[in-house]
Amino acid sequence: MRTQRQVVDYSLQKRAVLREFLAGRVGTYDVCDASPYLKNAARFHGEPTDRRCPICRSENLTLVHYIYGDELKQSAGQARTLAELPVLAMTLREFQVFVVEVCLGCDWNHLVEQYLLGRDGLTGEVDGTSEQDAAGAGGAGRRRREAQR
Ligand SMILES: [Zn+2]
Repeated sequence: MRTQRQVVDYSLQKRAVLREFLAGRVGTYDVCDASPYLKNAARFHGEPTDRRCPICRSENLTLVHYIYGDELKQSAGQARTLAELPVLAMTLREFQVFVVEVCLGCDWNHLVEQYLLGRDGLTGEVDGTSEQDAAGAGGAGRRRREAQR
């Protein structure tokens, strides 16, 4: 996504958890604890993947995108489909996205990554054009007003 920034990758932490699980130091109860809310979010807003669950190896993982930020007001903390994120990123200045992978078979879940989205990420890229656009619109307005006189 164009405005994606400050990406934090949690794959190291995930691998550590999986190592502990494979070594028998943690049980399925510890790692397969997806809440009913998370599973509902996965069902209704989740992004299916073709990656197998690392625990049960019988279901594919679903990615859930949670959004946080002051601008979201009552929507903060809700799950959104991947398709909705670019739209939000163009309307809001900045919000945080947390991506969680979930297995609907065995309830395995883990944070995958987090990042920021929003129009603030466009500064620098469109600095010149946005100013030109504003000037252009102003110029057109002046010309229209002059034409009316
Ligand atoms: Zn599973």
